[in-house]
Amino acid sequence: MLGVAEGTPVEVVADLTNLGESLLVDATVHARVTGQCSRCLNQLDVEHSLHISDVFGMTPDFIGGDEAEEGEEPLMVEEDRVDITQLLVDEAGLTLPFNPVCEDYGLECNDAIPAPDGISGEETVVDPRWAGLAGKLDEVAEDTEDTEDTEDTEDTAGTAGTATDTDKDA
Ligand SMILES: [Zn+2]
Repeated sequence: MLGVAEGTPVEVVADLTNLGESLLVDATVHARVTGQCSRCLNQLDVEHSLHISDVFGMTPDFIGGDEAEEGEEPLMVEEDRVDITQLLVDEAGLTLPFNPVCEDYGLECNDAIPAPDGISGEETVVDPRWAGLAGKLDEVAEDTEDTEDTEDTEDTAGTAGTATDTDKDA
């Protein structure tokens, strides 16, 4: 999940339009959002903008407006201030990806993800406690191969070859 870390500077650029009994707030909020890629756990650190646009009531008359009919608490200008926190939280919930991945931000996932134990790793990792034994096994395997190689060589060339020729002749 992505989020704006506590203490991160947030830039707000807002247009306020006086509509008589209400105030139109059109704001763009720009901040650095951080989080983890949900695939490779890479740290994501990207710029993100949220845009909100809503009407805040300035007089009690505004309460009788459309929004009250919808059963919603109307947004109000209180003490000459507008609180856009909830609008931003809602917008962030709608637009920020719940499972962000590197590709969403033009990055590549980290390939060097260690495979979980017991799941198809390409390389066989030898338990260090058995490494000595594994080495012995390799030696034995090599010895066996060497022996076979030698026999093969004898079969195909030199005396063996001659013997075969002789057999054919005879
Ligand atoms: Zn990733």
